[in-house]
Amino acid sequence: MSGTFNTVIQLIYVAAASCFVLGLHLMNNPATARRGNQVSVAGMIAAIAATGALVIHGGLIDATGWIVIAAGVLVGGGLGLYTARTVKMTAMPQLVSIFNAVGGGAAALVAIRDFMTIGSGIGASTSVPTLLDVIIGSVTFSGSIIAAGKLQGVITSAPVSFPGARIVNMLLAVIAVGFGAYVIASPNMIGLGVVIAAALIFGVSMVMPIGGADMPVVISLLNAFTGTAVAMAGFVINNTALIIAGALVGASGGILTKLMADAMNRSIGNIMIGGFGQGDAIVAAAGVAGAGVQSIAADDAAIQLAYASKVIIVPGYGLAAAQAQHEVAALADLLESRGVDVSYAIHPVAGRMPGHMNVLLAEANVPYPLLKEMDEINPEFGRTDVALVIGANDVTNPAARRAGTAISGMPILDVDAAKSIIVIKRSMGHGYAGIDNELYTNPKTSMFFADAKKGLAQLTASVKTLVG
Ligand code: NDP
Repeated sequence: MSGTFNTVIQLIYVAAASCFVLGLHLMNNPATARRGNQVSVAGMIAAIAATGALVIHGGLIDATGWIVIAAGVLVGGGLGLYTARTVKMTAMPQLVSIFNAVGGGAAALVAIRDFMTIGSGIGASTSVPTLLDVIIGSVTFSGSIIAAGKLQGVITSAPVSFPGARIVNMLLAVIAVGFGAYVIASPNMIGLGVVIAAALIFGVSMVMPIGGADMPVVISLLNAFTGTAVAMAGFVINNTALIIAGALVGASGGILTKLMADAMNRSIGNIMIGGFGQGDAIVAAAGVAGAGVQSIAADDAAIQLAYASKVIIVPGYGLAAAQAQHEVAALADLLESRGVDVSYAIHPVAGRMPGHMNVLLAEANVPYPLLKEMDEINPEFGRTDVALVIGANDVTNPAARRAGTAISGMPILDVDAAKSIIVIKRSMGHGYAGIDNELYTNPKTSMFFADAKKGLAQLTASVKTLVG
């Protein structure tokens, strides 16, 4: 009977895992992404229900345990539901970071609890995943809290480092792994305490030196760590669903990290031992545009747009902050109806989360084929009459092409190659990386100082007036 029961549970786990894989696959495409989410949620509910049944069947916990679980589900689930429903799209990365911290921390606690329960009797097969779980989970926990603080502006977003920081980081890694090996050979709580402390400090010192424009890569890396820690927790408590779900998060997070690191011209190894902000790879120096900023009014900007034959819209964080996606779509529709060739240039880290611009523009029903990725659109700027930059800053900053700036080496949208550039933003204020943008003083650039939503509405009205 018990054998049949266990088989059924394992089959449910396999079904749940299939849902996760299918869900991920469906998320590949904006048209099926919502369905992908639903399928994954169904898989997760099945896995949780099966685990509940397993616990009841085995009589693994007493009444107090059930009360603790119920309280955890109510408080944790309630808070998660509330924050996920109310969070502003622009604050999503902080929320993802907090979720990473919670996931990593929970995975580490599972291993610590397991270690305390079976302590000295453990064999190598459980002890290696246990220690890996403790190390990766602790790094993720402290690192993600620092990342969330930086993104929220509670901790400075500038790189914070000191001479020799890399050596200290490497030393911390050696202590965590070295003591981990010692604890495996001779299990003891003091040794485990040293491992936890070293891993927690490593998490802090790994994220503190990461500044400005490089944050997306580290968030993605921490997400991959969370998955890996959870997979290790699955080995620790011998739960197949946890192993598979964790491995999927770890693998997909790892792939995303690689893609983002490549897009930013950064190396993952460098993120982990610190020293970001100077740029790993420096491309050829480019001239700095002359001083002086030209501003432009809505009517003049409308003339340029209405009589252009090719316009590229460059959206950035300011478009999201202003929630101006519907206004930009309306302007683009109007221009297209006049026969203007309009497309959108999407930088991989524009906004504050991977895919931010895609999600935002999809909300306004902008046709997906109009969204062009950086490598595809960059050669087109030279043939473009007007590049309309809306609340984008760092991703257009030619300073990235020179050595010694906070964004050096980061590939940018070649907006400055367009014949004319109009930038909509409220002031000469900096972007996330906190540096001046040389594009704004380029003689081809006109600044239209306005909130993106209001500015775009004015532009649309002016184009309409102009062309009757
Ligand atoms: P930036 O953060 O570089 O610049 C945004 C600009 O938007 C600001 O200069 C601001 O100027 C303007 N702005 C803000 N509010 C409004 C508004 N209401 N109307 C009009 N403009 C507004 O944005 P980018 O998208 O160019 O670059 C993203 C940056 O964020 C990169 O450095 C990236 O690395 C980083 N990042 C990205 C993440 C991701 O996953 N995508 C995650 C974390 C960080 P002003 O105040 O003058 O209006």
